[in-house]
Formats: sequence, structure tokens, C-alpha cells
Amino acid sequence: MGDRGINLKDLTMRELETFFSEMGEPQYRAKQVAGWIFSKGAGSFKDMTNLPAALRDRLARRATPGNLVTQRKQVSSRGDTVKYLFGLYDGQAVESVLMKHSYGRSVCISTQVGCRMGCALCASALGGAVRNLSPGEMYDQVLAVQKDCGERISHIVLMGSGEPLDNYQNTIKFLVNINAVYGLNIGFRHITLSTCGVEPGIRRLAGEGFPLTLAVSLHAADNELRDRLVPQNRKYPLEVLIKACGYYSNKTGRRITFEYALLSGVNDSPDQAVQLAGLIKGIPCHVNLIPYNPVGELKYKRSSPDAIKKFREVLDRSGVEVTLRRELGGDIDAACGQLRRRAAMDQKGRE
Ligand code: SF4
Repeated sequence: MGDRGINLKDLTMRELETFFSEMGEPQYRAKQVAGWIFSKGAGSFKDMTNLPAALRDRLARRATPGNLVTQRKQVSSRGDTVKYLFGLYDGQAVESVLMKHSYGRSVCISTQVGCRMGCALCASALGGAVRNLSPGEMYDQVLAVQKDCGERISHIVLMGSGEPLDNYQNTIKFLVNINAVYGLNIGFRHITLSTCGVEPGIRRLAGEGFPLTLAVSLHAADNELRDRLVPQNRKYPLEVLIKACGYYSNKTGRRITFEYALLSGVNDSPDQAVQLAGLIKGIPCHVNLIPYNPVGELKYKRSSPDAIKKFREVLDRSGVEVTLRRELGGDIDAACGQLRRRAAMDQKGRE
């Protein structure tokens, strides 16, 4: 928390009540302040006009309502995707992406600065892990995007930099607050949490009673290849991961989304599609095929349209529900971690 004091958006309602009772204030102050920070997005205690001036001063001395600084913003040529780089209080930066869909406005947020999962296709993995984001830092990404675009955010995707299940407690607190009536009241069914396969986290999440969509980044249907593409597989191999996915689906009643980025000559053959169909058989799920967005420093290339078509046909014939991810923002460094790396490289170039 440092000199700036405690970030009130890091607290749940119960913790806010404790915070105010320790200040000698009545409980209803927690509700008042929660409305200001979580719903109205007030950036300063000065804005909280229904609080006595003396309390506002005391709050300013020991806490912060949170806030991010927009460092960069890129709008795709079609205008359907906006990518933001937000500066944090300690000089770090994270990315968020606004996606304009026909069904609403969705924000993809980051949950960590960098990531230690080391996935071979990912720009966020290149610099390793830096630190976890706090619940308030996750929340502020949504508020900042909503304020900038001037439209209500209806959907959230935890698919930016970081592995949410590697920052479990903070992610759960964020989910509680964003779903709450004092918050943005975004239904769990409109929230997707993406994981590279942290098996104990999946089982734990299943017990939280949040009916959110779990997206699992599969990218390979055999352990040998997945060990290389998603190193977490060495810890929790496919047979263990798929069992946990079945458990999650059973417990929450939600279908799993399996993400599969198609990499030319690596995981996109018809035989690999057959293997994939066999692996997920019996799990209520659908497969989201992703045309890979190449990252400059990485060797992988996007599969050809023909290879994608053939891969999809095999899954279709096997009775697997398949979608092909609509391409958004290919011209704006849209893969996670790319904008942050670009900003860091520009900074280096200036030094
Ligand atoms: S894909 Fe996700 S989990 Fe894997 S390294 Fe990148 S941010 Fe981390």
C-alpha cells in the first residue's frame, strides 16, 4: 500500500465496514463510499459530497479511492477494438482491451503485471512475472475503460496479462465487487475467466458458487506438445486438467470453453483435430479456434485459412461445438502483453 494509503477498492463490503468501524464511523459509511468508488468511479474523496468534510480529509490522509493513468490508447482501424496501457502507482503498467460486440461492450483485463506461466505463444510471458495486481487495480481497468468509452460495460474477460488463478484471492475479491449491486453489477454469466490450466485453482473456483465461464487455453491435445506450448502442463497434464474441467462443469452447470490457437505446422493438422475431439469427449464444452496473432519475438505463425477450415471441419464432423474467434484489433498489438512490451521497448529506445 505504500505512502498513498490503503486502496479502498481492494476491500470487500465487509472489509470496508471494518475499516470504517476502526475509524469510529457508523457502518452506513461503507455503503456510501462503496457507491462512490465502485459504482460512480469517483477519483477523489473530494467528490463524495454526502460525506462530512472532516471525514473526507481523514480518508484522504489514510486511503486512496484508487485510480489508473492512461498512458497509451490505440483504436483499431475498424473502431471495434480499443487497447489501453494503464500506468499503476508504482510505475508498472498493464493492458486492457475494449471490444465492441453486437451484444454489448466487453473489457479484457489483466490480473498480473507480466506472468510466470511461460506459455510459448504469449508476449506477457517474455518478461516473466513482475507482480500481482490488487483487486482494486483490476476493478479500475473496467471503470477507466467504461469512462473513456462512455458506454456501460456489460461483459468482462479475464484474459489479459497474467494467470488469474495464480493470483487467486485478489481475483476472487475483484469478482465479488464487480458483481455486487454496489459495484457495476455485472452478472457472473457475463464474465469469462481464462486459465492456462492451474488445476487446483479450477477445482477451488468450482466451489465459489460463481456461475462464470471458464476458458481453458488448451492449444494442444497431446502432453508432449502441450508441455512445450503451455509449460503448466508439466505440472498438471491433460488427463488431470480435463478431469478438473469436467468437475467444474458438473459443479457449476456451465460449459467449458477450450481455447485453441492455431499455429501453422505445429498443432493444426486434421489428425490433431481428431485427437482434440477425443480428448474433450464427454465434457460439456465448446472449442474456440483462434487465428494466432503473431508476436514479433516469437517464431510461431498463423495457420492458413485452408488449414483452419479443415481443422474446423474435423471437429464439426466429430460433433464438437466450434466457434472461430472473430478477429479484433489485429492492427493494434492486440495479443496480450504486446502493447506493454512495445511501450517498454520505445522507452528503451529513448534511453
Ligand atoms: S497466455 Fe496467459 S497464462 Fe500463459 S504466459 Fe500469457 S498471460 Fe500467462
